[in-house]
Amino acid sequence: MADVPTLTLHELAEGVWVWLQPGGESGVSNAGVIADADGLTVIDTLMVRSQWEPFAAAVHDLDRPVKRVVLTHAHIDHVGGTTAFRNAMVLGSPVTSALLDQAMPVEAYKNFMPAFAEGFDELAVVGTRPVSHLVDAAAQLTPRVELLPAQGHTDGDLMVLVADVDVLFAGDLCFFGVTPLAFQGDPATWADTLEVVGELAATIVPGHGPVGATADVDALREYLRHCVAGSIPAGPWDSWLERAERDPINIEKAEMLRHGDDGMPPSMIRAIGLA
Ligand SMILES: [Zn+2]
Repeated sequence: MADVPTLTLHELAEGVWVWLQPGGESGVSNAGVIADADGLTVIDTLMVRSQWEPFAAAVHDLDRPVKRVVLTHAHIDHVGGTTAFRNAMVLGSPVTSALLDQAMPVEAYKNFMPAFAEGFDELAVVGTRPVSHLVDAAAQLTPRVELLPAQGHTDGDLMVLVADVDVLFAGDLCFFGVTPLAFQGDPATWADTLEVVGELAATIVPGHGPVGATADVDALREYLRHCVAGSIPAGPWDSWLERAERDPINIEKAEMLRHGDDGMPPSMIRAIGLA
């Protein structure tokens, strides 16, 4: 995996920056910025103010207008900082849009990510911005930015490809060094999507964890296939964070979907303190 510094706007390629957060566990996600002639496109916005304020300040220091915010999906650790970019259009899938229009389940967030409880209290007051522009098909957003809808982590994932520098922002379709979490997704569909993802670009920015490449996507796909099969043998995933918490959720979700049940896995319901 590439050695990219965390908690700073790091220029990965000409006019393409990443803001990585160390670790990559629940609530600790990545964001990105892409420059076009007319201004900037921000990819995801982190979660609580302590995370997104320094990110937004660094983006501001680029001294170019933020024209667009692309949300890879609706999970709170990607959409919490949308209000930091007041004048940008907000692009997301119809699923993302529908979820952002619902009330914020603050108590569930606090139970699932207690380290950020204070941040959630503040976020409940500040709120998030709604999606202003729906993306329901692949689209060339700017000369550099291509939007690619997909499914697997959620029913409405969106990837961002910058083909001229061979960089893909995969959102939470990729977790590197961290166990993926499929409580609102479909491990089988997700693994199928990853067959393609690894071929899209040489450099892949995941939603959580360090910048990676095709080999990291391959390992993630293999892990998800094992979740679908119902048991996980030893493998490269043995070093990933949050295995103990997430293996049961991913296996349970795959098993439920096999029986046509797209509900929340009981193991996840317990993790968010609702059972
Ligand atoms: Zn997510």
